Amino acid sequence: MEYLTLAETYQRIEATSKRLEMADILVELFKVVPAGEIEKVVLLTQGKLAPDFKGIELGIAEKLALKAIYEATRVNEPEIQQMWLRDGDLGNVAFEAVSRKKQTSLFTESLSVDMVFANLEQIAGSSGPGSQDMKLKLLAKMMHDSSPVEAKYIARTLAGKLRLGIADMTLIDALALTYSTKENRDKVEQAYNTCSDLARVASLLAEKGIEGLDEIKLEVGIPLRAMLAERLPGIPDILEKLGGKCAFEYKYDGLRIQAHITKTSVQLYTRQLEDVTSQFPDLVKMLASAFKAKEAVLEGECVPIDTNTGEMLPFQTVSRRRGRKYELTSAVNEFPVMLYLFDCLYKDGKDYTQTPYTNRRKKLKTCIKETDRVKLAEVLITDSPEEAEEFFQKVIGKGGEGIMAKSLADDSFYRAGSRGWNWIKFKRDYKSEMNDTVDLVVVGAFSGKGRRAGGYGALLMATYNPEEGKFETVTKLGTGFDDAILAALPELLEPHLSQGMHRLVNSKMQADFWFEPAMVMEVKGAEITLSPIHTCAWDMVRNGSGLAIRFPRYTGKIRQDKPPEEATTTAEMLSLYEMQLK
Ligand code: ATP
Repeated sequence: MEYLTLAETYQRIEATSKRLEMADILVELFKVVPAGEIEKVVLLTQGKLAPDFKGIELGIAEKLALKAIYEATRVNEPEIQQMWLRDGDLGNVAFEAVSRKKQTSLFTESLSVDMVFANLEQIAGSSGPGSQDMKLKLLAKMMHDSSPVEAKYIARTLAGKLRLGIADMTLIDALALTYSTKENRDKVEQAYNTCSDLARVASLLAEKGIEGLDEIKLEVGIPLRAMLAERLPGIPDILEKLGGKCAFEYKYDGLRIQAHITKTSVQLYTRQLEDVTSQFPDLVKMLASAFKAKEAVLEGECVPIDTNTGEMLPFQTVSRRRGRKYELTSAVNEFPVMLYLFDCLYKDGKDYTQTPYTNRRKKLKTCIKETDRVKLAEVLITDSPEEAEEFFQKVIGKGGEGIMAKSLADDSFYRAGSRGWNWIKFKRDYKSEMNDTVDLVVVGAFSGKGRRAGGYGALLMATYNPEEGKFETVTKLGTGFDDAILAALPELLEPHLSQGMHRLVNSKMQADFWFEPAMVMEVKGAEITLSPIHTCAWDMVRNGSGLAIRFPRYTGKIRQDKPPEEATTTAEMLSLYEMQLK
């Protein structure tokens, strides 16, 4: 298949911000993709070369990319540099330079999807002496053979910035519609939630139809997408929702870990399915020695501790462990951690996700011999609101953030990849007026004045509306920033700058700077009110009004573990508003 077909499709997708339209365009594309190539097409459309858990990072030094563009087009180097400085988007630079290419050579080959994919793999995978030359040659050759629109998307993919704004859910819609029917959409999603690999799902669908998906099973070494919790404002509401009796577990505030353990290996994945095994060698050792089954997939929360007092430390401490490849030994000593396990999804050849909570908890017990550093999450099973309140107070007293209520019903299954009522969280913050912290996406900024002159004075924050595929503004955030974060913000946000309001953003407010939705920050507010200027839940509570957060304050947490699509949703904001009215 020609890469040009893909590039032209991407161009059409970029021209729309409507989820349904995107899905239609994708269906049109998938229908003409040969079965053997759908895997690569899906990955390229996601801007990836492999599913996230494989950890293959795209990204190329801009200098090298600009040089390759020059080699391929012979457009004068300072001019290419100028385009880059003006635009900051390698894709646009490649597009413009290739459009202005001096003469078209007779010796161009048309680019196939296979060829582009193989070249990108080779460029992403090579390092060491001679690799720069090789990358330059490969990229220059591709640019030479490209039309402007192909050059644009190859450059963006290589830079790791394809960003077509297609949510996974839209790809799933399109795959179901192409290879089966709308009615089977949930089956496609379930397959994806189990293997976390849409390309594999697509390839099975294309080769074998919807039945092909039965081949997808939970496997040790292949992470599944995490189950998430709903929230309610009070313990009595929770008990009522869960049939009068439930399990209350300590809600630890750390890093969620999905551990895939065999007799000879331990692999650790975060909630975003990033492989963090190499960052936590201590956890690997601790788990290996506490493990007493043959193989299992377990879930827990990794919490930083003070080894002198045995007390848990704030969540931020564990994030210091992340990404520190070079001083790993000192990081391990400086920021020791422990693991509280709360679920067992697989043990010794059997998938337990479709069994009730109580059974999974029993299995978990048989997998682990508790040690100082590896423990099972504390739990209380009760039907008494008083006992549950006491447990909650005990957790808060120990510095915990709240409790997780878990259904004991016969169908209290582990629902990979979805937020559901089998788990309900209840946090300390719920007791104040605005019932929770929220995770909002930065979509714009306002120039600073006075002490903040030259930087950003406030940020425009949004919730995510998955039905519309849009980010809807909900507040202007200017409080809670210390000097360090104020100084860091321009650099943190720079890679996401957008010329004008990003097409996935819905705002009535005019910001001085706009960003592609990418960075997620935790915000605590005093109250949620109706607002004529914010677009979150527009017309949903009252015609001509949206929802806004009053007196928002940045809590100090940047949610690096959350992509923008996992930020607080508009629906969650609505339910927080309703809880507050109670
Ligand atoms: P929050 O910011 O409240 O953690 P979230 O959106 O990140 O919200 P939720 O699904 O709402 O995630 O809350 C569940 C998270 O709580 C899990 O992802 C996990 O990391 C953590 N957690 C801590 N203790 C437990 C427990 N006992 N059972 C399940 N999850 C727990």
